[in-house]
Amino acid sequence: MNTLFKSITAIVPDSENGFVTKVCDVAIKDGLICYIGDDAEKNGFIPEKTINGKDKLITAGLVNSHTHSYMSLFRNSADDLMFHDWLFGRIMPMEDKLTADDMYYGTQLACLEMIKTGTTAFLDMNIARDAITRAISESGLKATISRGLVGNSRDDEGGKARIEDTLYDMRTYGGNKRLKFMMGPHAIYTTDRGYLELVMEKAAEYKTGINIHLSESVKEIEDCYKEHGCSPVKYLDDMGMFDFHTVAAHCVQLSDEDIEILAKKGVYAATNPISNAKLGNGFARIPDMLEKGVRLCIGTDSAGSNNTLNMFSDMNFICLAHKGNHRSATAVSARQALKMATENGAKALGFENTGILKEGYAADLTVMDMKYPSLQPVNDPVAAMCYSASGYEVESVMVDGEFIMENRVIPHMDEERIYFECNQAMKRIDG
Ligand SMILES: [Zn+2]
Repeated sequence: MNTLFKSITAIVPDSENGFVTKVCDVAIKDGLICYIGDDAEKNGFIPEKTINGKDKLITAGLVNSHTHSYMSLFRNSADDLMFHDWLFGRIMPMEDKLTADDMYYGTQLACLEMIKTGTTAFLDMNIARDAITRAISESGLKATISRGLVGNSRDDEGGKARIEDTLYDMRTYGGNKRLKFMMGPHAIYTTDRGYLELVMEKAAEYKTGINIHLSESVKEIEDCYKEHGCSPVKYLDDMGMFDFHTVAAHCVQLSDEDIEILAKKGVYAATNPISNAKLGNGFARIPDMLEKGVRLCIGTDSAGSNNTLNMFSDMNFICLAHKGNHRSATAVSARQALKMATENGAKALGFENTGILKEGYAADLTVMDMKYPSLQPVNDPVAAMCYSASGYEVESVMVDGEFIMENRVIPHMDEERIYFECNQAMKRIDG
C-alpha cells in the first residue's frame, strides 16, 4: 500500500551532526521509503493512505543486536545473582524444563514487547529448532536467528544436532524474507576448538555470518589465558573466525590489543550495557572502541538479565553509564547511541538496506506520539529518544511498509493468550 506520512517530524541522517530533525512528508511505496521532502503529492506520489503527521515523530526502527527472545519467560526470576551463578545455577536448569510451546509463547512475549517499544529488527540466539523461529516469523518483525551451538568436539553428536537445528530452520523458514540466519556458537567456554572449526566450516558452506558471546566476564578472560595463553578475542582471531561477518555480543573485558583486532577485522561488537551492569560484569570500553572505530551496536540481552527488551532503556543507559564511569559528559552522546541502535545494528544483522530513514531504504519505521510530557516541548527529538522517552510513546511500527502495530493495535497477536501461557509455563517450571 502507498502510505504517506504528511508533515511529520522526522529524524533523518546528517553527515555533520549524525542526525537532524525536520518536518516533512515521508512516502512509502512497495515496502520502501520512496520520498522524503516538502510535498510528496506535488512530486507525483499518489497515496492510498494518508496519516496526519501532526504531533508525531518518525524514526528508523530500532534494532536490538543481541537477545534471547524465549528467555522473556524468565523475566524477574533470576535477579541479583553473579553471572556464573545466574547462568549455570539458575537459567540453565530452568531451560532444561522448557517445552516447545513454552519457547513459542516466551518468544511471542518478547516480540510483543519489542514491537510496543519501537523495535523493528533483532538478533536472536536461541536453544531449539522450529518453535522459536515460528513465533518470530509470525510476529512480522525482521530478525537474524542463530541457534545457540554448544559442543565439546567436532564429533560431538549433540553439537552436530544443534547445527542441524540451524539448517532445519533455514530450510523451513528461508522463504520469509524478513528472516536471516547465522551460525551461533554460544561462547568459547561452552565449545572447544574442534567444534568451533566445524561451525566455521558450516558458516562457509551455507554462507552465513557468526554470532557469539565474547569477553563477557573476568572469569572468561582468566580461564582463556589459563587454557589458551591469550585473550578470547585473540583466540578467535587466530582461528580465523573474524574473517566471517561476526557479531560478538558483550565485548566487556577487552585489552588494547583486543580493541585493535575488533576494529581491524570489522567485527560488530553488540554491547549490552544494562545486562553487563546488572550481572556485575562491568562496563565495556565504549569510548575507546568508538575512538578506534569498532563497529558498535546495542543489544538488550534477554529479559532474564535486563529485565526488559526495551531499547530506549539501553540507549539511555549506555549514555549515562559511560558519562558517569568516565566522568565525562561527552563519553557517549545521544546521537552516537541512536546510530548504534539503528544503522549499525541493521548492518550487524546483515540487513543492508534498513536502519536509516532515507529514500531507497526499507520502510522499517517507528512512529511516536509526541503528545507526552516526556517528549514536550519538542526541542531535540534525538535527545528525547535517549534521555526522556520511556518507549511506550511508540504508537505505530512499520516493517517493509506494512504496519505490524498501528495506533497501538497489533491485530495478529493475542496478548491475553500470550500472558496466560507464559504465566502457566513459569508456574510449572519454577512454581
Ligand atoms: Zn546473550
